[in-house]
Amino acid sequence: MPSYDPNNIFAKILRGELPCYKVYEDDKALAFLDIMPRAPGHTLVLPKAPARNILDVPAADLAHVATVAQKIAKAAMTAFAADGITVQQFNEGAGGQVVFHLHVHVIPRKAGQPMKPPAAEKEKPEVLAEQARTLAAALAAG
Ligand code: AMP
Repeated sequence: MPSYDPNNIFAKILRGELPCYKVYEDDKALAFLDIMPRAPGHTLVLPKAPARNILDVPAADLAHVATVAQKIAKAAMTAFAADGITVQQFNEGAGGQVVFHLHVHVIPRKAGQPMKPPAAEKEKPEVLAEQARTLAAALAAG
């Protein structure tokens, strides 16, 4: 497996070199909206420490990302009036991974509404900003 590339786009977001629609942050994890959402509220949860994917991440960092993904999933049920949540996580190109810093997709779902294909359409900045505010508020409300 190739080694971690510190110039991947999510590493740049983690360093503050590129913007994101942040919904949650603690000392070990960051969560922000996917700019090409497969459904409204599609969120990505990342460990802050460098890790390419599930194959090299320390188990404790993976466990923390899972804990944050659960928090986001619960908050998203309320924030987006969801009927369910799809969680996805891809590893290496053959496994569907495109950005090589570990991330977990948390995707709110409505009954009967299929997900869009990956990276199909960029959402409008004002829509993403509003959704990030809504989800962050639901998280803060616990
Ligand atoms: P994957 O590596 O297959 O899990 O997919 C990477 C995901 O990152 C895709 O869903 C993209 O829409 C998303 N993505 C790519 N660039 C950005 C970005 N700058 N901000 C937020 N999401 C992004």
